Order: sequence, then structure tokens, then C-alpha cells
Amino acid sequence: MMWALVLLLGQAPITYWPGEHEKSVLAEWAVEHWAAAGGFAVQKVKTAEEAEIRFRWVNPRRSGLYGQSQRVEDKGRWVNEVVVNPTAASLGPEMAARAAQDPLYGDVILFLTCVHEAGHALDAQHTSNYADIMYSFEYGGDFAAYFQRYRDRLKVRTDMQRQSPLSTGDVKQIQAAARRRSGRR
Ligand SMILES: [Zn+2]
Repeated sequence: MMWALVLLLGQAPITYWPGEHEKSVLAEWAVEHWAAAGGFAVQKVKTAEEAEIRFRWVNPRRSGLYGQSQRVEDKGRWVNEVVVNPTAASLGPEMAARAAQDPLYGDVILFLTCVHEAGHALDAQHTSNYADIMYSFEYGGDFAAYFQRYRDRLKVRTDMQRQSPLSTGDVKQIQAAARRRSGRR
């Protein structure tokens, strides 16, 4: 049904590459949640070069940096490079200890980081609403509790695929971004 709609509107799916990491499925689920909320199609591709959104799982060795999304030019087209830092230690000793004690909590940090950065790649902006995935910690707030509230909704890791982490505000943002995109094409 989604494909029929895509053909009808003449919109190509947004291509993404989840990167090479044992946890790259978290990036897939992240992109899929945004697509479902925004009502647009996404397509996983086999190489970074083919993709409009490219995940890189690296430790940039900068303390406090767990995710980043950047628009870069590649062979004449604009693509999004998303960096996810899978090293819990970069979050500081308290968060690292929490993640070590509860591996699912560690995966929630990674997953929500993927969701937030994929949101940037899909044109969502920071908000000051703590309920939002696009919330920026520049506004303060309890960092550990932010991840714990989503952790509390899960029993096993695959629950992340079903349990949307997006707030009402996030959904409104991605729908507006999808409308802007369809206006451009
Ligand atoms: Zn951000």
C-alpha cells in the first residue's frame, strides 16, 4: 500500500545505510519510526555511497559527543552523515555504569541517539520540550531519566521496533518536514 502511494505521488523513497556495527539495526528502526510517523517511504541500501542518510558508528574521542548529523556534499549531491558513538564511556562514568548494569538501558541510549540524529537528517529541528526526541539538552533536564522513561516501556530489545519513541510534537515536525520535501520535488 505504501508503494502504491509512492508511485502515485511520484516520490522516491529516502535511501539510508545503517552502517557497519553489531547494533546497526537500531539505526534501521530509528529511520523506520520517522518514516511511519511522517507518511513517507524509506529504503535501506547496501553501501554508504548509494544512501542519502549514512550512519557511521565511531568513537570520535570527544567526551560528551554521542551523536551528530551533518549535511555534506558528495559528488555534487547533498547527503547526511550521521555519527553515532557506541562507546558508553563517552557519556561519563555515571551513565556508563548504568549501561553496564542494564545492557538494555545502554541500547536505549544508542537507539534514541539514532532517532534524534536521523530526525536532524530528515529536517527536524531541536525543541525545548523534554517530551520530544528532538529535545536539546542545552535546555537542561535530567539526562538519565530521559532515557529511563523509554527504557521503562521495554521488556526486550526488539520492543524498540514496536514502541515509537516519538512524541506528538515530533510527529507534527516530521509531517511538516515531509510536506516541505514533497513541495520541493
Ligand atoms: Zn540535535
